[in-house]
Amino acid sequence: MVQTTVDSAHLDSLRSRVQGVVTAVDDPGYEDVRAVWNAMVRHRPAVVVRAHGVADVAPTIAFAREHGLELAVRGGRHNVAGTGTVDGGLVLDLRDLCAVSVDPAGMTVRVEGGATLAHVDAATAPHGLAVPLGVVSGTGVAGLTLGGGVGWLTRAYGLAADNLLQVELVTADGRTVTADATQHDELFWALHGGGGNFGVATALTFRAHRLGPEVYVGNLVYGQDRWPEVWAAFEAWTRDLPDEMTAIVTTMTPPPMLELGDEPVLIVGFAWSSPDHAAGEVLVDRLREVVPPDEQEVVRMPWVDWQSAVDPLFPHGVRAYWRNTSFDRLDEEVVDVLVRRGAEQRWVGTAFDVHHMGGAYGRVPEAATPFPRRDARFWINVYGFWTDEADDDARVAFVRGLSADLQPFATGGEYVNFQGSEASGHRVLDPRAVFGEDKYRRLVAVKHRYDPHNLFHRNHNIAPEIAV
Ligand SMILES: Cc1cc2nc3c(=O)[nH]c(=O)nc-3n(C[C@H](O)[C@H](O)[C@H](O)COP(=O)(O)OP(=O)(O)OC[C@H]3O[C@@H](n4cnc5c(N)ncnc54)[C@H](O)[C@@H]3O)c2cc1C
Repeated sequence: MVQTTVDSAHLDSLRSRVQGVVTAVDDPGYEDVRAVWNAMVRHRPAVVVRAHGVADVAPTIAFAREHGLELAVRGGRHNVAGTGTVDGGLVLDLRDLCAVSVDPAGMTVRVEGGATLAHVDAATAPHGLAVPLGVVSGTGVAGLTLGGGVGWLTRAYGLAADNLLQVELVTADGRTVTADATQHDELFWALHGGGGNFGVATALTFRAHRLGPEVYVGNLVYGQDRWPEVWAAFEAWTRDLPDEMTAIVTTMTPPPMLELGDEPVLIVGFAWSSPDHAAGEVLVDRLREVVPPDEQEVVRMPWVDWQSAVDPLFPHGVRAYWRNTSFDRLDEEVVDVLVRRGAEQRWVGTAFDVHHMGGAYGRVPEAATPFPRRDARFWINVYGFWTDEADDDARVAFVRGLSADLQPFATGGEYVNFQGSEASGHRVLDPRAVFGEDKYRRLVAVKHRYDPHNLFHRNHNIAPEIAV
């Protein structure tokens, strides 16, 4: 049964067991510490423990177990489905565990479990290194990586998860385990896309890559009358791109800050990760010659600046709903859906991104990680951000509608990190459909071994027994 408050004597006992700040419902600061990025998620946990250090993790888990409190774990608080919080339960908030240490000679980066992308990029950039993560700097590294992690370096170096060398984890029984290719290897496999199902990641060690300091990046902008020809040109362009080029196409009604007018636009965003900027320019020219952009911003800029360039579009506390799927075709049928749906909605903040995949991402064997569909040419992420509750139904309906229109072309699998919030009718993902039968069974076996009582279920859950 969900419990909404914790007895004050028990809270005192919790406070004596951890160094971090313990905030209960009536304490000052509760509303601030309660909030997550998606304002549609209004859960009211009974208590939030803001861990001061790794030593706070096991006692907090033990307290949740002892008192039968539902447990939610969070870092960057960006999970769109709101899994980083829980009604009436205990939230373990890792935001203060954000240290990043870089080994420039070994080209590895150790990241604590509550760090954001911004923490990592700030630490690696002075060494001319980068870890492949996502595209918005406030996102949590652990949440993003445990689910997969798609960003501007995906084609060059794979998912964030593909670059994991080791994860330090506190399990449901309070044990600290180190998972890598040689120890707890099945657990290590499961941490490459299985999400937060298996324990609390207190640190993740990544392989880093040489990058920058400046990268050749840009946005090519097209008005609505150009979209069919641009999609056709983009489809042809992506057929033989080198790994160093990652492109994401966004269709949106631009916010005023972009100064692109108020009609929907299509933006081909790209990042070229090779130091040979001239070679990147030759490639971009190949597209620009076929479909000259109406407007463009193509620049060389520091990697950290590019990584935070779209941050203002995604402020904390907006309402949000997302869906996604993979697909292989950008033929007339698919383009027709993308053009029609893109033109039909006029709301700032409601948009969709088509990520061009392949490259290093596509060369990882399907069974090597739980992350689904290594053979997909594209993933589409359909999303809405808005502020007024009165807009909920229309925005959610748009995201669902476009998603449904794309189902006939979908190639299966879903990226667990790109799924919408429970408050707006989030469906529980079927892990069989997400991962496929073989991976699902393997994930269940790992779950059964490390979390047999499903303590870590505030996530896209893999139950510890095979569902029939
Ligand atoms: C504005 C925005 C931009 C985004 N951009 C991208 C992108 O470019 N690429 C991409 O791949 N995804 C992106 N995402 C999706 C993102 O990867 C997921 O929302 C992810 O869950 C966020 O992680 P978090 O730590 O910030 O979230 P939180 O809400 O803090 O945590 C989410 C879940 O992750 C798990 N978790 C978090 N930390 C830990 C930990 N230390 N140990 C164990 N489990 C943990 C828990 O299950 C938790 O419920 C974006 C999301 C938003 C809102």
